[in-house]
Amino acid sequence: MTSILWLRRDLRRTDHPALVAAHDAAGAGGVLPVFVVDPTLIASAGPERLTALHAAIIGARESFDDMLVVRHGRPEEILPVLAREVRAASVHITAESTPYGRRRDERVRAALMPDVPLVATGSPYAVTPGRVRTGAGTPYQVFTPFSRAWRDHGWRRPAELPVGLTWHRRAASEPLSFDAGGPATIGAARVDERQALDRWHEFLATGLESYAVDRDRPDLSGTSGMSVHLKYGTIHPRTMLADLAAVTAGRGPDVTTYVNELCWREFYADVLWHRPASAWTDLRPGLSAMAYDDPSTAGLADWQAGRTGYPLVDAGMRQLLAEGWMHNRVRMVTASFLVKDLHVWWPFGARHFLAHLRDGDVASNSHGWQWVAGTGTDAAPYFRVFNPVAQGERFDPAGDYVRRYVPELRHVAGRAVHQPWKVAGAYDDGYPAPIVDHGEEREEALRRYAAARG
Ligand code: FAD
Repeated sequence: MTSILWLRRDLRRTDHPALVAAHDAAGAGGVLPVFVVDPTLIASAGPERLTALHAAIIGARESFDDMLVVRHGRPEEILPVLAREVRAASVHITAESTPYGRRRDERVRAALMPDVPLVATGSPYAVTPGRVRTGAGTPYQVFTPFSRAWRDHGWRRPAELPVGLTWHRRAASEPLSFDAGGPATIGAARVDERQALDRWHEFLATGLESYAVDRDRPDLSGTSGMSVHLKYGTIHPRTMLADLAAVTAGRGPDVTTYVNELCWREFYADVLWHRPASAWTDLRPGLSAMAYDDPSTAGLADWQAGRTGYPLVDAGMRQLLAEGWMHNRVRMVTASFLVKDLHVWWPFGARHFLAHLRDGDVASNSHGWQWVAGTGTDAAPYFRVFNPVAQGERFDPAGDYVRRYVPELRHVAGRAVHQPWKVAGAYDDGYPAPIVDHGEEREEALRRYAAARG
Protein backbone atom coordinates (compact mmCIF):
# COMPACT_ATOMS: atom_id res chain seq x y z
CA MET A 1 0.00 0.00 0.00
CA THR A 2 1.21 3.47 -0.90
CA SER A 3 -0.20 6.75 0.40
CA ILE A 4 0.20 9.91 -1.61
CA LEU A 5 0.83 13.06 0.42
CA TRP A 6 -0.21 15.91 -1.88
CA LEU A 7 1.53 19.04 -0.53
CA ARG A 8 0.21 22.55 -1.09
CA ARG A 9 0.38 25.14 1.72
CA ASP A 10 2.17 22.68 4.03
CA LEU A 11 5.73 22.46 2.72
CA ARG A 12 7.37 21.05 5.85
CA ARG A 13 7.93 17.79 7.65
CA THR A 14 7.47 18.82 11.30
CA ASP A 15 4.05 19.27 12.94
CA HIS A 16 2.32 17.85 9.86
CA PRO A 17 -0.91 16.01 10.70
CA ALA A 18 -1.55 14.98 7.07
CA LEU A 19 1.91 13.39 6.91
CA VAL A 20 1.08 11.44 10.07
CA ALA A 21 -2.21 10.31 8.52
CA ALA A 22 -0.48 9.32 5.28
CA HIS A 23 2.11 7.35 7.23
CA ASP A 24 -0.56 5.62 9.32
CA ALA A 25 -2.45 4.62 6.16
CA ALA A 26 0.60 3.45 4.23
CA GLY A 27 1.78 -0.10 4.16
CA ALA A 28 5.03 -1.39 2.72
CA GLY A 29 4.65 0.95 -0.25
CA GLY A 30 5.41 3.95 1.98
CA VAL A 31 4.46 7.60 1.60
CA LEU A 32 4.90 9.44 -1.68
CA PRO A 33 5.11 13.23 -1.17
CA VAL A 34 4.11 15.14 -4.30
CA PHE A 35 3.82 18.77 -5.34
CA VAL A 36 1.69 19.52 -8.40
CA VAL A 37 2.65 22.76 -10.15
CA ASP A 38 -0.85 24.00 -10.99
CA PRO A 39 -0.90 26.40 -13.98
CA THR A 40 -3.86 28.31 -12.52
CA LEU A 41 -1.93 29.26 -9.41
CA ILE A 42 1.21 30.04 -11.36
CA ALA A 43 -0.71 32.40 -13.66
CA SER A 44 -2.09 34.42 -10.75
CA ALA A 45 1.21 34.98 -8.92
CA GLY A 46 3.79 37.68 -9.55
CA PRO A 47 7.55 37.07 -9.70
CA GLU A 48 8.12 37.49 -5.94
CA ARG A 49 5.49 34.91 -5.05
CA LEU A 50 6.79 32.52 -7.68
CA THR A 51 10.31 32.99 -6.39
CA ALA A 52 9.17 32.17 -2.87
CA LEU A 53 7.12 29.19 -4.03
CA HIS A 54 10.07 27.87 -6.01
CA ALA A 55 12.29 28.18 -2.94
CA ALA A 56 9.68 26.49 -0.74
CA ILE A 57 9.39 23.51 -3.12
CA ILE A 58 13.16 23.14 -3.27
CA GLY A 59 13.23 23.36 0.52
CA ALA A 60 10.51 20.72 0.80
CA ARG A 61 12.64 18.37 -1.27
CA GLU A 62 15.25 18.54 1.46
CA SER A 63 12.65 18.19 4.22
CA PHE A 64 11.36 15.03 2.52
CA ASP A 65 14.80 13.43 2.04
CA ASP A 66 14.84 14.18 -1.71
CA MET A 67 11.78 11.97 -2.15
CA LEU A 68 9.44 14.80 -3.18
CA VAL A 69 7.99 14.17 -6.62
CA VAL A 70 7.10 17.20 -8.74
CA ARG A 71 4.54 17.01 -11.52
CA HIS A 72 3.20 19.82 -13.72
CA GLY A 73 -0.43 20.19 -14.73
CA ARG A 74 -3.98 20.36 -13.44
CA PRO A 75 -4.21 18.45 -10.15
CA GLU A 76 -7.46 16.71 -11.19
CA GLU A 77 -5.59 15.24 -14.18
CA ILE A 78 -2.23 14.59 -12.54
CA LEU A 79 -3.29 12.95 -9.27
CA PRO A 80 -5.53 10.18 -10.65
CA VAL A 81 -2.77 9.20 -13.08
CA LEU A 82 -0.15 9.21 -10.33
CA ALA A 83 -2.44 7.27 -7.99
CA ARG A 84 -2.84 4.55 -10.64
CA GLU A 85 0.88 4.59 -11.43
CA VAL A 86 1.93 3.91 -7.81
CA ARG A 87 -1.23 1.97 -6.87
CA ALA A 88 -2.03 4.43 -4.10
CA ALA A 89 -4.72 3.43 -1.63
CA SER A 90 -5.36 7.02 -0.50
CA VAL A 91 -4.35 10.61 -1.21
CA HIS A 92 -3.73 12.79 1.85
CA ILE A 93 -4.02 16.56 2.08
CA THR A 94 -4.06 19.37 4.59
CA ALA A 95 -7.61 20.77 4.32
CA GLU A 96 -7.89 23.90 2.21
CA SER A 97 -10.21 26.80 2.99
CA THR A 98 -9.80 29.25 0.12
CA PRO A 99 -12.51 29.31 -2.56
CA TYR A 100 -10.17 28.14 -5.33
CA GLY A 101 -8.53 25.47 -3.15
CA ARG A 102 -11.88 24.04 -2.07
CA ARG A 103 -13.18 23.82 -5.65
CA ARG A 104 -9.91 22.27 -6.83
CA ASP A 105 -9.99 19.66 -4.08
CA GLU A 106 -13.56 18.71 -4.94
CA ARG A 107 -12.53 18.25 -8.58
CA VAL A 108 -9.66 16.00 -7.49
CA ARG A 109 -11.92 14.04 -5.15
CA ALA A 110 -14.33 13.42 -8.02
CA ALA A 111 -11.56 12.48 -10.45
CA LEU A 112 -9.91 9.88 -8.21
CA MET A 113 -11.08 6.27 -8.45
CA PRO A 114 -13.92 5.62 -6.00
CA ASP A 115 -11.71 3.35 -3.90
CA VAL A 116 -8.96 5.99 -3.53
CA PRO A 117 -10.24 8.51 -0.99
CA LEU A 118 -8.93 12.07 -0.71
CA VAL A 119 -8.33 12.34 3.04
CA ALA A 120 -8.06 15.81 4.63
CA THR A 121 -6.27 16.03 7.99
CA GLY A 122 -5.51 19.29 9.78
CA SER A 123 -5.41 22.72 8.15
CA PRO A 124 -2.91 25.57 7.79
CA TYR A 125 -4.46 27.10 10.92
CA ALA A 126 -4.38 26.40 14.67
CA VAL A 127 -8.15 25.95 14.50
CA THR A 128 -9.65 24.75 11.23
CA PRO A 129 -11.72 27.51 9.58
CA GLY A 130 -15.44 26.99 10.17
CA ARG A 131 -14.99 25.40 13.61
CA VAL A 132 -15.29 28.43 15.89
CA ARG A 133 -18.98 29.36 16.11
CA THR A 134 -21.26 31.42 18.30
CA GLY A 135 -23.52 29.67 20.81
CA ALA A 136 -26.23 29.77 18.13
CA GLY A 137 -23.93 27.95 15.71
CA THR A 138 -23.45 30.96 13.44
CA PRO A 139 -20.11 32.35 12.29
CA TYR A 140 -18.56 35.29 14.12
CA GLN A 141 -18.72 38.62 12.32
CA VAL A 142 -16.50 40.59 14.68
CA PHE A 143 -12.88 39.95 15.65
CA THR A 144 -12.88 40.42 19.43
CA PRO A 145 -15.59 37.84 20.26
CA PHE A 146 -14.07 35.49 17.66
CA SER A 147 -10.67 35.79 19.30
CA ARG A 148 -12.15 34.98 22.71
CA ALA A 149 -13.98 31.93 21.35
CA TRP A 150 -10.87 30.89 19.39
CA ARG A 151 -8.75 30.91 22.54
CA ASP A 152 -11.48 29.06 24.46
CA HIS A 153 -11.68 26.45 21.70
CA GLY A 154 -7.93 25.91 21.89
CA TRP A 155 -5.80 23.76 19.62
CA ARG A 156 -3.96 20.47 19.63
CA ARG A 157 -0.32 20.11 20.50
CA PRO A 158 2.06 20.05 17.51
CA ALA A 159 1.98 16.68 15.73
CA GLU A 160 4.88 14.35 16.47
CA LEU A 161 7.12 13.18 13.64
CA PRO A 162 5.98 9.71 12.57
CA VAL A 163 8.26 6.95 13.76
CA GLY A 164 9.61 4.59 11.08
CA LEU A 165 8.55 6.77 8.18
CA THR A 166 9.20 5.06 4.85
CA TRP A 167 9.03 6.67 1.43
CA HIS A 168 7.69 5.38 -1.83
CA ARG A 169 10.79 5.47 -4.04
CA ARG A 170 9.64 4.38 -7.46
CA ALA A 171 7.88 7.45 -8.89
CA ALA A 172 9.89 9.74 -11.14
CA SER A 173 9.98 13.48 -10.49
CA GLU A 174 9.89 16.06 -13.29
CA PRO A 175 12.43 18.89 -13.14
CA LEU A 176 10.80 21.85 -11.42
CA SER A 177 10.04 24.48 -14.01
CA PHE A 178 7.89 27.53 -14.09
CA ASP A 179 8.34 30.92 -15.62
CA ALA A 180 8.90 33.41 -12.83
CA GLY A 181 7.45 36.05 -15.15
CA GLY A 182 9.94 38.72 -14.16
CA PRO A 183 13.51 39.38 -13.05
CA ALA A 184 15.28 36.09 -12.45
CA THR A 185 15.32 35.96 -8.69
CA ILE A 186 14.75 32.23 -8.71
CA GLY A 187 17.33 30.70 -6.44
CA ALA A 188 17.88 33.93 -4.50
CA ALA A 189 15.28 33.36 -1.80
CA ARG A 190 15.27 30.89 1.06
CA VAL A 191 11.84 29.86 2.17
CA ASP A 192 12.16 26.50 3.81
CA GLU A 193 11.50 24.69 7.02
CA ARG A 194 15.01 25.23 8.38
CA GLN A 195 14.87 28.96 7.71
CA ALA A 196 11.35 29.21 9.15
CA LEU A 197 12.45 27.63 12.42
CA ASP A 198 15.69 29.65 12.55
CA ARG A 199 13.86 32.93 11.94
CA TRP A 200 11.19 32.01 14.48
CA HIS A 201 13.72 31.13 17.18
CA GLU A 202 15.67 34.31 16.46
CA PHE A 203 12.48 36.36 16.80
CA LEU A 204 11.61 34.65 20.08
CA ALA A 205 15.08 35.36 21.42
CA THR A 206 15.52 38.95 20.25
CA GLY A 207 12.37 40.42 18.68
CA LEU A 208 9.46 39.33 20.82
CA GLU A 209 10.50 41.41 23.83
CA SER A 210 9.74 44.67 22.00
CA TYR A 211 7.06 43.42 19.59
CA ALA A 212 4.06 45.16 21.16
CA VAL A 213 5.82 48.54 20.87
CA ASP A 214 7.91 48.16 17.72
CA ARG A 215 5.46 46.32 15.46
CA ASP A 216 3.99 49.58 14.16
CA ARG A 217 7.33 51.07 13.11
CA PRO A 218 8.20 50.44 9.46
CA ASP A 219 11.64 52.00 9.96
CA LEU A 220 12.58 49.22 12.44
CA SER A 221 12.73 45.46 12.01
CA GLY A 222 10.03 45.21 14.65
CA THR A 223 7.94 42.33 13.27
CA SER A 224 8.64 38.65 12.96
CA GLY A 225 8.74 38.27 9.16
CA MET A 226 6.94 34.94 9.54
CA SER A 227 4.12 35.65 7.06
CA VAL A 228 5.88 34.08 4.10
CA HIS A 229 6.51 30.93 6.11
CA LEU A 230 2.90 30.77 7.25
CA LYS A 231 1.84 31.29 3.64
CA TYR A 232 3.75 28.25 2.34
CA GLY A 233 3.40 26.26 5.53
CA THR A 234 7.13 25.93 6.14
CA ILE A 235 6.00 26.25 9.77
CA HIS A 236 2.62 25.50 11.35
CA PRO A 237 1.06 28.19 13.58
CA ARG A 238 0.52 25.58 16.31
CA THR A 239 4.28 25.17 16.58
CA MET A 240 4.51 28.93 17.10
CA LEU A 241 1.63 29.01 19.59
CA ALA A 242 3.18 26.18 21.60
CA ASP A 243 6.47 28.10 21.79
CA LEU A 244 4.65 31.31 22.76
CA ALA A 245 2.80 29.47 25.53
CA ALA A 246 6.17 28.48 26.97
CA VAL A 247 7.44 32.07 27.01
CA THR A 248 6.96 33.86 30.33
CA ALA A 249 9.20 36.24 32.27
CA GLY A 250 7.74 39.67 31.71
CA ARG A 251 6.86 39.28 28.05
CA GLY A 252 3.10 39.05 28.65
CA PRO A 253 1.99 42.01 26.52
CA ASP A 254 4.24 41.00 23.63
CA VAL A 255 3.01 37.40 23.68
CA THR A 256 -0.62 38.54 23.88
CA THR A 257 -0.16 40.95 20.99
CA TYR A 258 1.58 38.35 18.84
CA VAL A 259 -1.06 35.69 19.51
CA ASN A 260 -3.67 38.30 18.62
CA GLU A 261 -2.02 38.90 15.25
CA LEU A 262 -1.97 35.17 14.52
CA CYS A 263 -5.64 35.20 15.46
CA TRP A 264 -6.39 37.87 12.81
CA ARG A 265 -5.01 35.44 10.24
CA GLU A 266 -7.30 32.72 11.60
CA PHE A 267 -10.30 35.04 11.76
CA TYR A 268 -9.97 36.14 8.14
CA ALA A 269 -9.60 32.52 7.00
CA ASP A 270 -12.75 31.69 8.94
CA VAL A 271 -14.68 34.58 7.39
CA LEU A 272 -13.58 33.56 3.90
CA TRP A 273 -14.53 29.95 4.58
CA HIS A 274 -18.08 31.01 5.47
CA ARG A 275 -18.34 33.67 2.75
CA PRO A 276 -16.17 32.67 -0.24
CA ALA A 277 -17.53 35.51 -2.39
CA SER A 278 -15.95 38.00 0.00
CA ALA A 279 -12.59 37.26 -1.65
CA TRP A 280 -13.43 39.78 -4.37
CA THR A 281 -16.70 41.49 -3.44
CA ASP A 282 -17.83 43.56 -0.46
CA LEU A 283 -18.51 41.37 2.56
CA ARG A 284 -21.18 43.74 3.83
CA PRO A 285 -23.56 45.35 1.39
CA GLY A 286 -23.77 48.67 3.30
CA LEU A 287 -21.54 50.49 0.80
CA SER A 288 -22.76 48.85 -2.40
CA ALA A 289 -24.07 52.25 -3.59
CA MET A 290 -20.64 53.86 -3.13
CA ALA A 291 -19.40 55.86 -6.14
CA TYR A 292 -15.89 54.83 -7.15
CA ASP A 293 -13.71 56.30 -9.90
CA ASP A 294 -12.39 54.57 -13.00
CA PRO A 295 -9.00 53.24 -11.84
CA SER A 296 -7.37 53.94 -15.21
CA THR A 297 -7.90 57.69 -14.81
CA ALA A 298 -7.91 57.92 -11.02
CA GLY A 299 -4.18 57.37 -10.50
CA LEU A 300 -3.99 53.58 -10.02
CA ALA A 301 -0.82 53.39 -12.13
CA ASP A 302 0.89 56.17 -10.09
CA TRP A 303 -0.10 54.39 -6.88
CA GLN A 304 1.23 51.06 -8.15
CA ALA A 305 4.55 52.63 -9.18
CA GLY A 306 4.98 54.61 -5.94
CA ARG A 307 4.64 57.99 -7.60
CA THR A 308 1.75 59.62 -5.74
CA GLY A 309 3.85 62.41 -4.23
CA TYR A 310 3.04 61.21 -0.70
CA PRO A 311 6.33 59.86 0.67
CA LEU A 312 5.04 57.17 3.04
CA VAL A 313 2.65 55.83 0.39
CA ASP A 314 5.37 55.81 -2.25
CA ALA A 315 7.93 54.19 0.05
CA GLY A 316 5.46 51.39 0.81
CA MET A 317 4.53 50.77 -2.81
CA ARG A 318 8.19 50.70 -3.79
CA GLN A 319 9.04 48.36 -0.94
CA LEU A 320 6.35 46.05 -2.30
CA LEU A 321 7.86 46.09 -5.79
CA ALA A 322 11.45 45.78 -4.56
CA GLU A 323 10.99 43.15 -1.85
CA GLY A 324 7.59 41.56 -2.34
CA TRP A 325 6.70 42.57 1.20
CA MET A 326 5.34 45.69 2.88
CA HIS A 327 5.07 46.60 6.54
CA ASN A 328 1.55 46.16 7.98
CA ARG A 329 1.15 49.82 9.01
CA VAL A 330 2.12 50.92 5.53
CA ARG A 331 -0.22 48.34 3.94
CA MET A 332 -3.03 50.12 5.81
CA VAL A 333 -1.88 53.59 4.77
CA THR A 334 -1.36 52.71 1.09
CA ALA A 335 -4.69 50.88 0.94
CA SER A 336 -6.51 53.80 2.52
CA PHE A 337 -4.87 56.15 0.02
CA LEU A 338 -6.10 54.15 -2.96
CA VAL A 339 -9.66 53.79 -1.66
CA LYS A 340 -10.19 57.14 0.04
CA ASP A 341 -7.84 59.58 -1.69
CA LEU A 342 -8.07 58.14 -5.21
CA HIS A 343 -11.60 56.70 -4.76
CA VAL A 344 -10.75 53.35 -6.35
CA TRP A 345 -12.71 50.23 -5.32
CA TRP A 346 -10.58 48.00 -3.05
CA PRO A 347 -10.34 44.85 -5.31
CA PHE A 348 -8.15 46.79 -7.77
CA GLY A 349 -5.61 47.36 -5.02
CA ALA A 350 -6.03 43.90 -3.55
CA ARG A 351 -5.18 42.30 -6.91
CA HIS A 352 -1.98 44.35 -7.16
CA PHE A 353 -0.97 43.38 -3.61
CA LEU A 354 -1.76 39.73 -4.18
CA ALA A 355 0.30 39.63 -7.36
CA HIS A 356 3.35 41.17 -5.68
CA LEU A 357 3.30 40.10 -2.05
CA ARG A 358 5.46 37.11 -1.27
CA ASP A 359 3.07 36.37 1.59
CA GLY A 360 0.06 37.08 -0.69
CA ASP A 361 -2.82 35.25 0.94
CA VAL A 362 -6.33 35.75 -0.33
CA ALA A 363 -8.01 35.73 3.10
CA SER A 364 -5.66 38.14 4.89
CA ASN A 365 -5.24 40.32 1.84
CA SER A 366 -8.84 40.78 0.78
CA HIS A 367 -10.07 41.16 4.33
CA GLY A 368 -7.19 43.52 5.19
CA TRP A 369 -8.37 45.61 2.26
CA GLN A 370 -12.01 45.36 3.24
CA TRP A 371 -11.14 46.42 6.80
CA VAL A 372 -9.55 49.57 5.42
CA ALA A 373 -12.32 50.15 2.86
CA GLY A 374 -15.05 49.85 5.49
CA THR A 375 -16.80 46.99 3.71
CA GLY A 376 -15.51 44.05 5.78
CA THR A 377 -15.82 42.51 9.23
CA ASP A 378 -15.92 44.88 12.15
CA ALA A 379 -14.84 47.39 9.59
CA ALA A 380 -12.79 50.33 10.64
CA PRO A 381 -15.44 52.99 10.17
CA TYR A 382 -15.31 54.33 6.64
CA PHE A 383 -14.83 57.86 7.95
CA ARG A 384 -11.46 56.86 9.42
CA VAL A 385 -9.23 58.14 6.64
CA PHE A 386 -5.50 57.60 7.18
CA ASN A 387 -3.51 60.82 6.83
CA PRO A 388 -0.30 59.76 5.07
CA VAL A 389 1.69 62.67 6.46
CA ALA A 390 0.60 62.24 10.08
CA GLN A 391 1.09 58.47 9.83
CA GLY A 392 4.58 59.01 8.45
CA GLU A 393 5.56 61.48 11.16
CA ARG A 394 4.25 59.18 13.88
CA PHE A 395 5.48 55.78 12.72
CA ASP A 396 8.59 56.76 10.73
CA PRO A 397 9.62 59.61 13.02
CA ALA A 398 13.08 60.23 11.57
CA GLY A 399 12.04 59.57 7.97
CA ASP A 400 14.47 56.65 7.59
CA TYR A 401 11.90 54.32 6.03
CA VAL A 402 11.01 56.84 3.33
CA ARG A 403 14.64 57.56 2.46
CA ARG A 404 15.35 53.81 2.23
CA TYR A 405 12.83 53.29 -0.56
CA VAL A 406 12.56 56.72 -2.21
CA PRO A 407 16.04 57.68 -3.44
CA GLU A 408 14.81 61.02 -4.86
CA LEU A 409 14.24 62.16 -1.26
CA ARG A 410 17.50 60.94 0.28
CA HIS A 411 18.88 64.46 0.47
CA VAL A 412 15.99 65.58 2.71
CA ALA A 413 16.95 65.12 6.36
CA GLY A 414 14.80 64.01 9.26
CA ARG A 415 11.03 63.90 9.51
CA ALA A 416 10.71 66.83 7.09
CA VAL A 417 10.88 64.17 4.39
CA HIS A 418 7.18 63.50 5.01
CA GLN A 419 6.28 67.00 3.74
CA PRO A 420 8.67 67.70 0.84
CA TRP A 421 6.48 70.58 -0.32
CA LYS A 422 7.74 72.51 2.73
CA VAL A 423 11.44 71.88 2.06
CA ALA A 424 13.43 74.04 -0.34
CA GLY A 425 15.14 71.86 -2.97
CA ALA A 426 13.23 68.71 -2.00
CA TYR A 427 12.10 68.18 -5.59
CA ASP A 428 15.57 68.63 -7.10
CA ASP A 429 16.04 64.91 -7.70
CA GLY A 430 12.78 64.40 -9.54
CA TYR A 431 10.36 63.35 -6.80
CA PRO A 432 6.80 63.98 -8.08
CA ALA A 433 4.44 66.59 -6.62
CA PRO A 434 1.32 65.18 -4.89
CA ILE A 435 -1.15 63.88 -7.47
CA VAL A 436 -4.09 64.88 -5.26
CA ASP A 437 -4.69 67.09 -2.23
CA HIS A 438 -5.25 64.79 0.75
CA GLY A 439 -7.45 67.28 2.62
CA GLU A 440 -9.77 67.78 -0.35
CA GLU A 441 -9.98 64.08 -1.19
CA ARG A 442 -10.76 63.22 2.41
CA GLU A 443 -13.75 65.58 2.25
CA GLU A 444 -14.75 64.06 -1.10
CA ALA A 445 -14.54 60.54 0.37
CA LEU A 446 -16.76 61.54 3.27
CA ARG A 447 -19.30 63.16 0.88
CA ARG A 448 -19.46 59.95 -1.17
CA TYR A 449 -19.79 57.91 1.98
CA ALA A 450 -22.73 60.02 3.23
CA ALA A 451 -24.42 59.73 -0.19
CA ALA A 452 -23.92 55.95 -0.32
CA ARG A 453 -25.44 55.55 3.13
CA GLY A 454 -28.48 57.55 1.98
P1 FAD B 1 4.01 40.14 12.34
O1 FAD B 1 3.63 41.48 12.87
O2 FAD B 1 5.24 39.54 12.85
O3 FAD B 1 2.75 39.20 12.61
C1 FAD B 1 2.85 37.81 12.83
C2 FAD B 1 1.86 37.08 11.97
O4 FAD B 1 0.53 37.42 12.33
C3 FAD B 1 1.98 37.44 10.49
O5 FAD B 1 2.98 36.69 9.87
C4 FAD B 1 0.59 37.10 9.98
O6 FAD B 1 0.44 35.72 9.75
C5 FAD B 1 -0.29 37.47 11.17
N1 FAD B 1 -0.81 38.83 11.00
C6 FAD B 1 -0.28 39.98 11.46
N2 FAD B 1 -1.08 41.03 11.16
C7 FAD B 1 -2.14 40.53 10.49
C8 FAD B 1 -3.32 41.10 9.91
N3 FAD B 1 -3.58 42.41 9.99
N4 FAD B 1 -4.18 40.30 9.27
C9 FAD B 1 -3.96 38.95 9.19
N5 FAD B 1 -2.87 38.34 9.74
C10 FAD B 1 -1.97 39.13 10.38
N6 FAD B 1 -0.89 39.20 5.56
C11 FAD B 1 -0.57 38.11 4.85
O7 FAD B 1 -0.01 37.16 5.41
N7 FAD B 1 -0.83 38.05 3.51
C12 FAD B 1 -1.42 39.08 2.83
O8 FAD B 1 -1.65 38.97 1.63
C13 FAD B 1 -1.76 40.25 3.56
N8 FAD B 1 -2.30 41.32 2.94
C14 FAD B 1 -2.65 42.43 3.67
C15 FAD B 1 -3.26 43.52 3.01
C16 FAD B 1 -3.62 44.67 3.73
C17 FAD B 1 -4.30 45.81 3.02
C18 FAD B 1 -3.35 44.72 5.12
C19 FAD B 1 -3.73 45.94 5.91
C20 FAD B 1 -2.75 43.66 5.76
C21 FAD B 1 -2.39 42.51 5.06
N9 FAD B 1 -1.76 41.40 5.69
C22 FAD B 1 -1.47 40.28 4.97
C23 FAD B 1 -1.53 41.39 7.15
C24 FAD B 1 -0.16 41.89 7.61
O9 FAD B 1 0.16 43.09 6.99
C25 FAD B 1 0.95 40.87 7.36
O10 FAD B 1 0.58 39.61 7.85
C26 FAD B 1 2.25 41.28 8.08
O11 FAD B 1 2.66 42.55 7.62
C27 FAD B 1 3.31 40.25 7.81
O12 FAD B 1 4.55 40.59 8.38
P2 FAD B 1 5.10 39.83 9.65
O13 FAD B 1 5.03 38.36 9.47
O14 FAD B 1 6.42 40.42 9.97
O15 FAD B 1 4.01 40.25 10.74
